[in-house]
Amino acid sequence: MIIGIDDTDSREGMCTTYLGAVLLDELIAYGTLIGYPLLIRLNPTIPYKTRGNASIAIQLKTTHSGKIIEHVISRIQCLAQMQSEKTNPGAVFVLDQDDERTKAAMGDFFIHAVQDVISIETAKNLISELGLHAKGFKNERGLIGALAACGAMLNEGWDHTYEYIAYRQLKLWGTSRHVDKESIHKADLATYPNTWDTVDRTNGLIVCIPHSPDPVLYGIRGKTLEDVTSAAKMVKSEPVERSVIYRTNQGTDMHLIPVKSIADIKEMHSYIIEGTVAGTPRTIKGGHVIFPICDDTGVHIDCAAYEPTKNFRTLVRRLVKNDRIVVSGSVTTQTLNIEKLEVRSLAPKIEIQNPTCPCCGKRMKSAGHGQGYRCKPCSTTSDSTLRIGRPRNLEVGVYEVPPCARRHLAKPLIRVKREDCQVFPTR
Ligand code: ATP
Repeated sequence: MIIGIDDTDSREGMCTTYLGAVLLDELIAYGTLIGYPLLIRLNPTIPYKTRGNASIAIQLKTTHSGKIIEHVISRIQCLAQMQSEKTNPGAVFVLDQDDERTKAAMGDFFIHAVQDVISIETAKNLISELGLHAKGFKNERGLIGALAACGAMLNEGWDHTYEYIAYRQLKLWGTSRHVDKESIHKADLATYPNTWDTVDRTNGLIVCIPHSPDPVLYGIRGKTLEDVTSAAKMVKSEPVERSVIYRTNQGTDMHLIPVKSIADIKEMHSYIIEGTVAGTPRTIKGGHVIFPICDDTGVHIDCAAYEPTKNFRTLVRRLVKNDRIVVSGSVTTQTLNIEKLEVRSLAPKIEIQNPTCPCCGKRMKSAGHGQGYRCKPCSTTSDSTLRIGRPRNLEVGVYEVPPCARRHLAKPLIRVKREDCQVFPTR
């Protein structure tokens, strides 16, 4: 039996992964857990999300499916933030339905939920077409994520990582978190690069501890179960109520769709696209850095390194017109929010200067609009400017935003192997 759940939290509290952790402890009364629970990140541009657009799935061997369904529904009713307008829980139950047609249809749905925008109707239609048992609350939007998580559980073979999540005691929810920072740094030092996004050393931040009033104390992301467990064992903190290790599509780039033409780009989708820098990056109000790129058919789109990407913006400001690049990121309001930047080739950076006087060697002055240059004391003139090639201070290779600005789904460069060019992971 597979159970998928989504949309139980609000900005004021809760987290669907916590409900998953509670159920993992409770459902063993009715059966045996199979494998690891899943934490699935879906399309990061969806406006209905509370934070990271996550859903979860659990798999059990059981002869008590009726009791499990009843238990899960009662736990959702009790723990979900029903009072919040944006909380619309959904649960999907897959009972012995592992035939090829169901698997393929749900596998496709999972990928669509990560990359596309899906309507509640589409999810409900597939649920009834496949004869799945499901329970939606309020507008039932949570059925989308719940169905996608079941699809992920039914289909092996997608790239995955792990996250160890420690949860707070109920009485402490909403208060400030007590985690020993030094122990976090030690855990990071001992386990990086097999764990990542625990700290952001460049920006002096701890990124594995959330700031919202939800039950999560910290989360350690990494390559294997052993890696995340050994890092978590080193963390000293307030008492942990419970913990869970999820297998997840975090850090996999599963949301990115490769496209050749900017004309094919749609809002609320995430892409990998190659293009040529079509204008000098400019810094706008708020510290965001924006520049246009142009594809081979001449279509443009703006790319942005927003203020939260911190030091990444310095690198983006070094781009010049005609650099050849590949950008990945999500498109909203007709702008691509850069997650990764590959510099394929560098255009010469030319600085234009007034010519120097052949007699005195000093810089000549303009003789007036369209009239060339002159040096008054020496009575010399010149028609041409000086074109000076400047060093680029930027290398060909792949760059990424720092951990403090990383999307859950974005594959950290520490996981990327490239034979053809250098990668520059940030830590
Ligand atoms: P939670 O911890 O409760 O899961 P969250 O940040 O993950 O919080 P949700 O509260 O689940 O966000 O809200 C996201 C909503 O968007 C859910 O109802 C989910 O079913 C829906 N959703 C997810 N992916 C898509 C998609 N690709 N298209 C349309 N709706 C989606």
